[in-house]
Amino acid sequence: MKVAIIASECTPFAKTGGLADVVGALPKHLAALGIDVKVFIPKYDSIDEKKFGLTLLDAVGELQVRVNGPPRPVHVYTSKIPQSNVNIYFIDCKEYFHRGTIYTENWDEDERFILLNKAVIELCQHLQWAPNVFHCNDWQTGLMPILVKDNYGWDKMFAHSAFLYSIHNIGYQGRFSFDTLTKAELRPEYGNGGILDYDNSFCMMKGGIMLSEVISTVSETYGQEVLTPEYGAGMETYLRLRESDFFGVLNGIDTEEWNPETDKHIPFHFSKNDTGNKKKNKQFLLNKTPLTFNENVPVIGIISRLVDQKGFDLIADAIQELMDLDAQWVILGSGDEKFESMFRKLSSTLPQKCWTYLGFNNELAHLIEAGADMFLMPSHYEPCGLNQMYSLRYGTVPIVRKTGGLADTVQDWHEYRSLGEDTGNGFSFSDTTGTALYAAVQRAIDSYHIPEEWKKIRLNGMSKDLSWEHSAKKYVELYERAVAKRK
Ligand code: ADP
Repeated sequence: MKVAIIASECTPFAKTGGLADVVGALPKHLAALGIDVKVFIPKYDSIDEKKFGLTLLDAVGELQVRVNGPPRPVHVYTSKIPQSNVNIYFIDCKEYFHRGTIYTENWDEDERFILLNKAVIELCQHLQWAPNVFHCNDWQTGLMPILVKDNYGWDKMFAHSAFLYSIHNIGYQGRFSFDTLTKAELRPEYGNGGILDYDNSFCMMKGGIMLSEVISTVSETYGQEVLTPEYGAGMETYLRLRESDFFGVLNGIDTEEWNPETDKHIPFHFSKNDTGNKKKNKQFLLNKTPLTFNENVPVIGIISRLVDQKGFDLIADAIQELMDLDAQWVILGSGDEKFESMFRKLSSTLPQKCWTYLGFNNELAHLIEAGADMFLMPSHYEPCGLNQMYSLRYGTVPIVRKTGGLADTVQDWHEYRSLGEDTGNGFSFSDTTGTALYAAVQRAIDSYHIPEEWKKIRLNGMSKDLSWEHSAKKYVELYERAVAKRK
């Protein structure tokens, strides 16, 4: 099985979010399952050639890829996905990808990714490498199926190549004016009223949804949610048409980077069999803040972009009541000014309750996961979510809103107990209100004071398999399904 993974981001070369983590991690695990996988991303000027050992692929020479009229010169660089033998190819087109940032608001944003799609196809032709599956991701690669099947349909090497289209964020759909059709040299009938028309605009994501053999998203629950108008952002209409080919596959986490037994960012290591050192990490964390260590007072951690999506409006609604609880708060994040200022104020008026670090700090993120007792993530929507999974692994009990990937990874202790099972690993709530959030935090604090119960909840979380192995097998099943469908 040959698989081409095409995306706009890949860790550690170029990252703005979770997409990069999937594209960086999945190929290693596919390779371990015997898949011949190659990864393709743009060569942005922000990618450090020396650090990542990129070399020019001389044999390919200069490709001439036509976008919006003239042919654009393209060179191809290559390297390996770290800790693997997987080849990654970097599409270098200076006029499109040397812009200082991964994404832009420029008038030719559509052209940048049309170029990526066409260049990958032409590179595969050059390498005489016909993938069984093109695994495309988000709007930036939504045109791959229509380009391969129509514009390049003359090349019989792709006659059996199938498509898996993965949605990581349905909010970004790649919508442009119908001029984009001409820029991509697509047939006019695909535009207004055609297969790429969504609400009177040209929509790349719709192309991926309608013309791929199989579609996926990054958790089962999010997969159900995006079939509804509330979460689907308009795409629900098309996803419902494709429902029998649409699947949710939960992301794994990097279990080497996030391992409490070996984590290089934390002073005291621990494991599910011996959590004694967790308390020392809590002490170490609080020593960095004005908060006083007290074993009987739980520390609640938050690490997040401070935006509405992540439910900070719910926290704001209940902030007075939350601060009255017998708990301490450690917050790491940056984002909307209204939330930054809320936490800034709390930290100065209640220095024994709440400490805030405004900014991005990976080391502190590890320390909070290791030192906090609980982790709060009350998202309105969450395609998959990573931090709740890190928390489970670090014995930091998550309190989440029951949505998307949060619902698929966190089982509410009381809900499961009411079913006679003591398998819960956290606390969750459904209503998007401050009151519901407050009630869940209060339940967590109550459990914290019942040591045997708390130990069990923590152990359940720390025992959960969050690795990529399981998800990689599911992706292979989707590839096989796509191939069978294309025949
Ligand atoms: P999203 O991709 O929607 O922001 P996720 O939970 O999927 O949310 O992933 C967020 C990632 O970014 C996690 O790895 C988290 O630890 C990290 N992160 C977010 N904010 C910060 C911050 N201020 N400092 C350090 N790491 C952060």
